[in-house]
Amino acid sequence: MPPLVPEVRGLNLDPETRCLHYYSALDIIAIKMKCCATYYACKDCHSALANHPLEPWPRSEWHTAAVLCGACRTELTISAYLACRSICPACRAAFNPRCSNHHHFYFAGHAIRPEPR
Ligand SMILES: [Zn+2]
Ligand SMILES: [Zn+2]
Ligand SMILES: [Zn+2]
Repeated sequence: MPPLVPEVRGLNLDPETRCLHYYSALDIIAIKMKCCATYYACKDCHSALANHPLEPWPRSEWHTAAVLCGACRTELTISAYLACRSICPACRAAFNPRCSNHHHFYFAGHAIRPEPR
C-alpha cells in the first residue's frame, strides 16, 4: 500500500477521507485549509481538531492545489475542483454535489448571494 500522502486529519477518518460528519459514498474529498496548510476531511473536523478559526481561500489564490480526491489522491486546484461538476478529473470518481452548499466556508468569494439580514 502506498503511504497516505498528503496527510489528512479528521475524526473517524477512513482511507478515502470520509469522516464522522460526512460519510456517504460520495464524501471523498479533503480540503487543505488556508489557515494551517493542512488537509482536513471537513470544516467540522477542523473546528474539532484545530485550535483556531477556519480561514477561507481568497479568490486570488484559487490556483492553489487545495482539494484532495480521496479515491485517487490527486490534488486539484480550487479552480479545477469548482469547475469539475462533482466528477474527479483524474479518476472520474463522483463527488458529493451537495458540498457546493458549503463552498463558502472554504473558498471566499464563491457565494454570490449576500447573507439575508
Ligand atoms: Zn486551520
Ligand atoms: Zn468531518
Ligand atoms: Zn480522483
